[in-house]
Amino acid sequence: MMSYRIEGKTGSWEVVIGLEVHAQVISNAKLFSGASTHFGAEPNTQVSLVDAAFPGMLPVINRECVDQAIRTGLGLKAKINLVSRFDRKNYFYADLPQGYQISQFTHPIVGEGKVEIELEDGTVKEIGITRLHLEQDAGKSIHDLAPKESCIDLNRSGVALMEIVSEPDMRSPEEAGAYLRKLRSILRYLETCDGNMEEGSMRADVNVSVRKEGEPYRTRCELKNLNSVRFVMQAIEIEAMRQIDIWESGGEVDQETRLFDSVKGETRTMRSKENAHDYRYFPDPDLLPLVVEQDHVDHLKSTLQELPDAKRARFEQEYGLPRYDAQVLVAEKAIAQFFEQVAKGRDGRLAANWVTGDLFAVLNKKSLSIHESPVSADNLGKLLDLILDQTINGKIAKEVFEEMVETGAVPSEIVERKGLKQVTDISAIDQAVAEVLSKNADKVAEYKSGKDKLFGFFVGQVMKAMKGKANPPMVNESLKKQLGL
Ligand code: ADP
Ligand code: MG
Repeated sequence: MMSYRIEGKTGSWEVVIGLEVHAQVISNAKLFSGASTHFGAEPNTQVSLVDAAFPGMLPVINRECVDQAIRTGLGLKAKINLVSRFDRKNYFYADLPQGYQISQFTHPIVGEGKVEIELEDGTVKEIGITRLHLEQDAGKSIHDLAPKESCIDLNRSGVALMEIVSEPDMRSPEEAGAYLRKLRSILRYLETCDGNMEEGSMRADVNVSVRKEGEPYRTRCELKNLNSVRFVMQAIEIEAMRQIDIWESGGEVDQETRLFDSVKGETRTMRSKENAHDYRYFPDPDLLPLVVEQDHVDHLKSTLQELPDAKRARFEQEYGLPRYDAQVLVAEKAIAQFFEQVAKGRDGRLAANWVTGDLFAVLNKKSLSIHESPVSADNLGKLLDLILDQTINGKIAKEVFEEMVETGAVPSEIVERKGLKQVTDISAIDQAVAEVLSKNADKVAEYKSGKDKLFGFFVGQVMKAMKGKANPPMVNESLKKQLGL
């Protein structure tokens, strides 16, 4: 692996990155109340007395949220803590009516785990997970609705979040991006978080420091609340440069929380880093320790779906795919399903080529998701059948595919209507070859005196004469025979 380094005036620097990802739990109700979590509702229509922190209200744990956290922990190959505890994290903010957030501090529900990431050059790297804990989300302050007022929407107040903390194991923006994408893919497979960063249901706090080769870690800064993979990657690069400048001009990096401004391309101080004692964490007296049974964990484990890594390994094995292709196909569950429907009982590699090549190109060009694909998996499969049983050749298949994209028609019908059936009549092919060779006697002479490349030219001419419909191996055979090879 080519390691990522930033060259400064004093030599080369390594970047150290650890991520804290907040992932909104998919559940019908909030972590400690029965209010709905549906996205996009009118402001303040999904707020129970608990979420609005009316005096005397008691939180009641929502067991579905706990199960979702456990499933996620299992998906991260992490230790599930059968006893965990909720603490109050005290701070004042207008959109936090309780004056504290219920979180898990010393005893999180999920302990150490790991996530495998694949880099573009094929390197595989393991990123350590430190912990995952459950906590409440805060409400939302809205400052741009009224000219002189701030508004507060408490719909999000009390929604369950999983905070997933990584070890400082990443060493480049690319690794951080790959980690986030992989994490999102795992959460989506598990159906524990929808991973929609634009809607804020997955947000990342990014910790960045820089160091010289072989040194212990230096002071880090935390970049708050980034909501896209691209921003995370940009912010890391910009923040690393800022820190390198400070160190190289003889200064010291202060540990602080910073904001990334994607428009100006800079990071700015938000507040100096708070410490745990600033929050005066203490066990929430309204809640008993959270106890789960090992049997229940085992049951949840037995009902987990096949996750991306396992699916990738199976695709490599079952369909004979190279690791990279398998990786691309499993990143999204719906794509993996589409692929399997095309590949089942056919040729895995051919199916993978069509899905990642021709189909992806169309989806990209038209900005469509796999669910909106103009060509169904069924029809793409039927197209492969026509190639595999030699009804059409690969070149004609592209033409048929184009028409399938435009009209959604069934491939056999297109082939029939346009008369695209492959010609396997050897006498017709022999005749076309003979004509091409006699028309190009000069080229034949050149070929015979050693210009091997002309073979491709002859093939092209024969194909053209037969309107692209000739069976290519038969054309090759006939050419070889008639050229006296
Ligand atoms: P805190 O509790 O103050 O947020 P943690 O030790 O829990 O601090 O670390 C928070 C995040 O910062 C973790 O994701 C961790 O991997 C990352 N981190 C810790 N030290 C460094 C460092 N020197 N450089 C970059 N990231 C770091
Ligand atoms: Mg933290």
